[in-house]
Amino acid sequence: MPCASGGSGRERAVGLNAWGALPAVPAAAEIRLSSRTAALPAAAGNGTLLPYGNGRSYGDVCLNAGGTLLCTRGLDRFIAFDPDRGVLRCEAGVLLADILDLCVPRGWFLPVTPGTRFVTVGGAIANDVHGKNHHGAGSFGCHVRGFELLRSDGERRRCSPRENPGWFAATIGGLGLTGLVVEAELQLRRIAGPAMTVENTRFADLDEFFALNAAAEERHEYTVAWIDCLAARPRGWFMAGDHAGAEAAREVAAPGKARGLPLTPPVSLVNGLSLRAFNPAYFHRPLPARATVHYVPYFYPLDGLLHWNRMYGPRGFYQYQCVLPATARAALDEILQAIAASGQGSFLAVLKTFGPRASPGLLSFPMPGSTLALDFPNRGEATRALFTRLDAIVAAAGGRLYAAKDARMPGALFRRGYPALDEFIPYLDPKFASDFWRRIMEQE
Ligand SMILES: Cc1cc2nc3c(=O)[nH]c(=O)nc-3n(C[C@H](O)[C@H](O)[C@H](O)COP(=O)(O)OP(=O)(O)OC[C@H]3O[C@@H](n4cnc5c(N)ncnc54)[C@H](O)[C@@H]3O)c2cc1C
Repeated sequence: MPCASGGSGRERAVGLNAWGALPAVPAAAEIRLSSRTAALPAAAGNGTLLPYGNGRSYGDVCLNAGGTLLCTRGLDRFIAFDPDRGVLRCEAGVLLADILDLCVPRGWFLPVTPGTRFVTVGGAIANDVHGKNHHGAGSFGCHVRGFELLRSDGERRRCSPRENPGWFAATIGGLGLTGLVVEAELQLRRIAGPAMTVENTRFADLDEFFALNAAAEERHEYTVAWIDCLAARPRGWFMAGDHAGAEAAREVAAPGKARGLPLTPPVSLVNGLSLRAFNPAYFHRPLPARATVHYVPYFYPLDGLLHWNRMYGPRGFYQYQCVLPATARAALDEILQAIAASGQGSFLAVLKTFGPRASPGLLSFPMPGSTLALDFPNRGEATRALFTRLDAIVAAAGGRLYAAKDARMPGALFRRGYPALDEFIPYLDPKFASDFWRRIMEQE
């Protein structure tokens, strides 16, 4: 029986793939973990193991062809919550959505959240995810107080900044390759209620974006921009947000039940034609300069349409997310020009700056600079040729790509982008592997 959800939010059995739904994913065996299982070595036989959270990674970091996936969604117990200090202990298969349901009414929020709440705590640790508050809060791993790591030899290690600190640093952003995170302790962030105040500003080019961003990062906890990647000069909307006071809760209603795309259409609904219509309309739509909204549509607009990844059709899609050092502004221009000239890209194009707070993770993706994330319908060779051009710009600028979003980066680019790789390798569990890892290690 398939063990994990590759589809909507909380349900458990849809079939096993990554979010990009690229075709021809080779089969892996699946083991459902339900609680603190100690049976990993016997279960593994001679094959390799890989934890699988909720399949929200876009490419192959959560896939293990020919091996076994350890499906963690059954590790879903809350263990302890201290409502005075905001310290939560839970098993690694708990979804961020479940933490929010528990903690928001009690005045606490996730310290860092990605753009979907349907990811597990284990997945958030293993990719050391980031959010719109990276400029102040750093990545998810900065707020992990500790966790228990189960190795394939059956050993359980408590890891924290003080206890087994090397294992702690290797496992945060460790792509599931150092063992299974069984449970974790997180430090949450105080809030007064579920409402957010948001300021929206249209910008006409990147100079304007950087000026808005510099000012907003001083004043706002959350910042992000949507950009029209097909315009001759990249333009877009800058959005700054903060948690609102308790009184604002009266102004916002919790969102209703999410709708879903029922079927995968025979061809991608995202194409040159639809993009040329959508992007200008989105750019010119009237948005209020200030608004008060519920935290769900603010942080998770895409969660309102379950299975939205199906709109890319049976060939699936890629996401390309890079980070460029702050000094590499020309490289950002070059990347956006190359994308606009290619006529590819999509309406899901996000630009954000990362701040200086370092993650404890050895292979953590964020570094100070600008990060750009775009979805691309899979057009085969044309898309891969564009990526090769973008890779060259990223490498020359001293940037790196995000493994959580990747399905094709060359091994050399990963090795060059992650200087702590040699320090990480001794912490690999000898029985753990992923399609991503094999690809990166075997390819040039
Ligand atoms: C709509 C959308 C928006 C997103 N926005 C962001 C964003 O803003 N910022 C960001 O950083 N990411 C973002 N992501 C990516 C997503 O947050 C990460 O890929 C996340 O790691 C997925 O978690 P998951 O539980 O689905 O894990 P999976 O995708 O199933 O697995 C991810 C990795 O975690 C490992 N893993 C899972 N559980 C465990 C465990 N218990 N122990 C050890 N390793 C484990 C797996 O082996 C794999 O390497 C987004 C994804 C989507 C679909």
